[in-house]
Amino acid sequence: MKGKVYLVGAGPGDPELLTLKALRLLRQADAVLHDDLVSPQILTLVPRKAQLHDVGKRSGRKSTHQEAIQFLMIELARQGLQVVRLKGGDPLVFGRAGEEMQALRKAGIEFEVVPGVTAAFAAAASVEIPLTLRRTASSLLIMTGQFADDRPLPDLRSMIESGTTIALYMPGADPRETVNKLAGAGVLRDTPCAVVSRASTPAQQTTITTLEKLPSVGAQAKPSILILGDVVRLSKMSHLDFQNLSAELFQSSGQRQEANRA
Ligand code: SAH
Repeated sequence: MKGKVYLVGAGPGDPELLTLKALRLLRQADAVLHDDLVSPQILTLVPRKAQLHDVGKRSGRKSTHQEAIQFLMIELARQGLQVVRLKGGDPLVFGRAGEEMQALRKAGIEFEVVPGVTAAFAAAASVEIPLTLRRTASSLLIMTGQFADDRPLPDLRSMIESGTTIALYMPGADPRETVNKLAGAGVLRDTPCAVVSRASTPAQQTTITTLEKLPSVGAQAKPSILILGDVVRLSKMSHLDFQNLSAELFQSSGQRQEANRA
């Protein structure tokens, strides 16, 4: 049989958030190469006969270089194996799939991408935050807090003013630095903010706060994600002050101006 590589999204952790296609491919796999972010329950779905390679970069061991992962993936496919490259969340969101697809194309290996539930969607669902909201939040920005080079964040001022929800992946270990980076990029310090760590797992933790109060929340278990924007007020976990303000989020801007005049 001809070898093939599947770049598969494992979702945020809860095995029930795997797609049926991901589940089928895992069960049929000859070899699985997985990241640290993939939950142990999901790995139990891999058949015993399959090779299981932990190619995580954060597991405390010496990291597996991206090139070594690509080399292994290509070698296994050349042996005629059905290879699943399993990534947390969605493979095309901060998952290095760009490099892997290039390497597979160059090597002439057939591959297919199978999407998964990305962390922002799991986090928003768990605390009941609508990521978009008619009249309030018309766009969603998926962004990383950590660039590979030391670039600052892009200028977010006009996006925020026009109603954008930000999902900040890899927010960084130091919350003070995260606040300064975001504020420096134009995000107001009183912007509502949800911190969700280990979304969709039994160890999930959530805090609703504002950007400026983020450092007082304390260290978050990894992985964690931030959701920023007015829509956070609508979370079931928002405290009363936020919820009192949330009614206006459903009004049109005209209605809001009228209410302000009254
Ligand atoms: N491909 C993944 C993202 C990988 S980057 C996806 O689509 O979700 C790694 C970052 O994703 C983490 O630093 C964290 O910000 C976020 N993340 C992944 N899984 C998460 C989870 N279960 N809960 C909270 N954040 C998560």
